Amino acid sequence: MSPARLIDGKLAAAEFRALVKSGVGELVARGHAAPGLAVVLVGDDPASQVYVKNKDKAAHEVGFHVRTLRMAAATPQRELLAVLDELNRDASVHGILVQLPLPRGLDEGAVVAALDPAKDVDGLSARSVAALWMGASGLVPCTPQGCIHLLERVGVKLEGARAVVIGRSQLVGKPLAALLLARHATVTIAHSRTQDLAAVCREADVLVAAVGKPELVRGAWIKPGAAVIDVGINRLADGRLVGDVAFAEALEVAGCITPVPGGVGPMTIAMLLGNTLLSAARRAAVPERELAPWRGEQPAVR
Ligand code: NAD
Repeated sequence: MSPARLIDGKLAAAEFRALVKSGVGELVARGHAAPGLAVVLVGDDPASQVYVKNKDKAAHEVGFHVRTLRMAAATPQRELLAVLDELNRDASVHGILVQLPLPRGLDEGAVVAALDPAKDVDGLSARSVAALWMGASGLVPCTPQGCIHLLERVGVKLEGARAVVIGRSQLVGKPLAALLLARHATVTIAHSRTQDLAAVCREADVLVAAVGKPELVRGAWIKPGAAVIDVGINRLADGRLVGDVAFAEALEVAGCITPVPGGVGPMTIAMLLGNTLLSAARRAAVPERELAPWRGEQPAVR
């Protein structure tokens, strides 16, 4: 069998960011303010600092107004909530992103619940989650949206496909399952207590790994020709970055596969930009498809 086709997330993300940039230009040309994104970073977690820096840079590049608020790790909960309340009310802010995880002592659930759902560009609030599962319009979490974008971009047929998502987090696994279901895939969510994970994976025409365990998914677990999306980002002791899929083995079996790095990762930030533009379009009462051409017909849930 010939090796799998590589799904180039870097290229897809660059193309997507260009679409967002032209949407911003169109919004401004119609007399509206450029989208505003507020990024809130609490504490000094090194990985979070890098993520925030990258988001800040990407948002500037597409023409957003960006405010990055850095707060001390010891910030009391009420102070953080007061800042979010201010951002909720600020009409120049269309998207609010609180970088997770938060330092110990802060209640993530309460922080997410405090966000105006219209500005919740991570799509984590209860209203966003409900909208996703009900097929209503809301803001969809960025990483799962990026996975779907990559699958659709390379023409993977989702309707009727057997899809297996490994991982059931609020951030990735669960919302991705909802998106696949809405596109008429038959979806299995596997997780830490799943029995015989290898056999479950072997059923998958579309296999997504979002676990956080280096090279958990072996080549022998993959159905020949399957589409494999590797969400995992794991730093090994020798400094190498690997996904949740044993890439070299998978390459021999899969039909197409995302590399790590350069697969899903770049799409996450691109989708954050897309969500912020959507939020700004909704606020300006501009039909979103006029600014965001990637918004095709939303699939029916039934
Ligand atoms: P999480 O820790 O919240 O969830 C991990 C999930 O994996 C859990 O639902 C758990 O049940 C499941 N799991 C754990 N061990 C398992 C096992 N042995 N077999 C099967 N399932 C198992 O993680 P998350 O936030 O969903 O992130 C998952 C991975 O994706 C991490 O590596 C994270 O760094 C990465 N990630 C990447 C991006 C990106 O932009 N590429 C974004 C978010 C997360």
